[in-house]
Amino acid sequence: MNIDGKALAQELRNDLAVEVKQLQEERGITPGLTVILVGEDPASQVYVRNKVRQTKEIGMISNEIKMPAETSQQALLDELDKLNNDPAVHGILVQLPLPKHIDEALIIDTILPEKDVDGFHPMNSGRLCNGDAAALVPCTPQGCVLLAKKHLGDNLCGKHAVVIGRSNIVGKPVSLLLLQESCTVTIAHSRTKDLAALCATADILVAAVGRPEMVKADWVKPGATVIDVGINRIATEDGKGRLVGDVDFADVEPVADAITPVPGGVGPMTIACLLKNTVEAARRFG
Ligand code: NAD
Repeated sequence: MNIDGKALAQELRNDLAVEVKQLQEERGITPGLTVILVGEDPASQVYVRNKVRQTKEIGMISNEIKMPAETSQQALLDELDKLNNDPAVHGILVQLPLPKHIDEALIIDTILPEKDVDGFHPMNSGRLCNGDAAALVPCTPQGCVLLAKKHLGDNLCGKHAVVIGRSNIVGKPVSLLLLQESCTVTIAHSRTKDLAALCATADILVAAVGRPEMVKADWVKPGATVIDVGINRIATEDGKGRLVGDVDFADVEPVADAITPVPGGVGPMTIACLLKNTVEAARRFG
């Protein structure tokens, strides 16, 4: 069966809209998210447009700051300084990737951890690593765990989770979250030996690799729950191209107990969790 990320993201946004109203009525706070886009990367423009639209839809304040590709690092740092000091801004997101002349790590370090709704600041990743509930947790990994729980229920204790990928954005934080849920976690990566056999031992298999349809049916234990994070565009005969995940959906779907589709699985949950982080930042620090 499919785990419907679109429907779960809608449920989450409905709950958040109620929370936003409560914050307004009880504390006079309207959560505000500011997204900074440097340059004209087409994929980033689409992501930002969707973030802005969904932020407004649940009653939050959305600000978009567009800066040209040749913006200096200092100009971006100055903008962040203003936003860090603006009490109406509860969440700041700098859309990645940034142009090559800007030091991404420095930019992430400059965002106030309390406003770092992407959860990439070392203070937040450190807190996540320590199991500290004060962490703002990266959005895609949060979405993965919510999708797994949607199918398996809240208790993931004792399940063997195999995560393919060790990036700071997805692989590592999703592994830490699954560990917090008392899963036994194995992190696999490009140098892992016998990857297919290892994956076939997973009760929960998370693929965050960036390789189209890499995971095949014989990599999956019958009855496993499969969370496909990958977003890959492949060529089609009509020239339009098509989005596929890191999992060969048609091959794996009959073997797995449940699987997230691409598109319509993890993707919609990422933005919903960004809104969730912003509401949380406003509630805690607003
Ligand atoms: P990344 O390139 O930073 O990391 C990929 C990881 O995969 C690395 O840790 C690498 O060791 C591992 N890897 C590469 N080749 C491998 C192989 N042959 N076997 C085993 N492991 C291998 O990528 P990322 O930022 O973590 O993103 C992964 C995928 O998830 C991409 O397709 C990306 O587009 C997608 N993504 C989706 C969302 C979403 O909202 N759905 C968000 C972030 C990333």
